[in-house]
Amino acid sequence: MNCVFDKIITGEIPSHHVYEDDHTLAFLDNFPHTKGHTLVIPKVHAETIFDLDDAIVPHLYLAVKKVMKILQEKLNPDGFNVGWNHNSAAGQAVPHIHVHVMPRWQNDGGGSMHSIVKNPPKINVEEVSKLLK
Ligand SMILES: [Zn+2]
Repeated sequence: MNCVFDKIITGEIPSHHVYEDDHTLAFLDNFPHTKGHTLVIPKVHAETIFDLDDAIVPHLYLAVKKVMKILQEKLNPDGFNVGWNHNSAAGQAVPHIHVHVMPRWQNDGGGSMHSIVKNPPKINVEEVSKLLK
């Protein structure tokens, strides 16, 4: 496996750890978009959340919460954006699921999740809802 995040987990590639437990590791993004921009990953290799064992998903979410608390206490941001890019079409650059935790400050020039893409459907919400039944 030639996965850069697996090498970060083993320590082969150094990183600045923010949080670690038996199932997850959180470290500072080497290309931060905000101060404290942190990546939270499962210690098992999984390209997307669809590949991640259901038993690990709660651990990943709990680690995200713990990381947010650490960042809140240490950096005192005004808010956060939290999420992940799923597959290359959505901007996933490393094929190992990683949750971005981005501290935000008032008037920092950033946008909301809604600013990621503007591609509204050509059909109305009721029609989309029918597709999901
Ligand atoms: Zn990996």
